[in-house]
Amino acid sequence: EMSKKQLIAGNWKMNASLAGSEALVRGVLEGLAAAPAVCDVAMCVPAPYLAAVQGWLSGQTAVQAGAQDVSQHASGAYTGEVSADMLRDFGVRYAIVGHSERRQYHGETDEVVAAKAQRALAAGITPIVCVGETLAEREAGHTEEVVRRQLAAVVHVNGHCITEIVVAYEPVWAIGTGKTASPEQAQQVHAVLRAQLAAASVHADRIPLLYGGSMNASNAASLLAQPDIDGGLIGGASLKVPDFLAIVAAAR
Ligand code: PEP
Repeated sequence: EMSKKQLIAGNWKMNASLAGSEALVRGVLEGLAAAPAVCDVAMCVPAPYLAAVQGWLSGQTAVQAGAQDVSQHASGAYTGEVSADMLRDFGVRYAIVGHSERRQYHGETDEVVAAKAQRALAAGITPIVCVGETLAEREAGHTEEVVRRQLAAVVHVNGHCITEIVVAYEPVWAIGTGKTASPEQAQQVHAVLRAQLAAASVHADRIPLLYGGSMNASNAASLLAQPDIDGGLIGGASLKVPDFLAIVAAAR
C-alpha cells in the first residue's frame, strides 16, 4: 500500500465561544509549532466562527479549517442553511456531511447526505462523509449492511470523484459515550468500506478512512495503527488542546 498522511480532524460540534475558539486554535498552533505534526490536521468549527478561525489560521499550513455541515442546495429560499460556495469564501478545506447527529436529529437521509457531498465537491471542499451503525443495528448483526448502504448512496452520486472524499466510520454507540470500538472492530468495518470503495475506484487506497467515536489520547495510537484506519474524527477530545495534540502526535 502506498503511504499517505493520516488526517486528524476535530469536530467541535455546538461547543466553544468566540474567545474559547481563539484559545483552542492558538493553543493547537503553538503546540504544532513546537512539535510539528506528520499528519494532516483540521478543525471543524461552528459556522459563525469560520471567519475568525480563517483569520487565526492565516499564514500557516499546519491546520486546515472545516465546517460541520453544508446545504444540499446551491442557493435560494432555504432559511438558516449555509451553502458550499459560502463556506469556500472562508477558505474551508473540509465539510463534515452526514454526521449521525444530523441523521438522527435533523432527518438526513442517505440521499440528502450524498447530495451534500456533491455540493461540497463542486465547491472544491472535501466532504468528510460519516457512516455508522446504532447499537441496535450492531446487536442485530446489521453493521456491514448499514455502513455499505450509507456509503453506496454517496458512491452512486459521487463515484466520478470518489478519490476526493474522506469517509469517517463512526459507530453511533461510540460517539460521546466513552465506549470506543476496539481496534479490531474498527478495522473490520474499515476493511469492508475499503473493499466497497475498491469496487468504485482503482485508487481506493488513497481515500482516507477515519475512525470516530470516543477516540482519545489513550486509545488513539492503537486505533491509528490499524492498516485501514487513516486518521480520526475527534469530538470531545478536540475541545482540549493537550488531548487533541496528543492524538495528533499518535498519528502517522
Ligand atoms: C463525533 O461526533 O464525530 C465524535 C467522534 O465524537 P466523540 O469523539 O466525542 O465521541
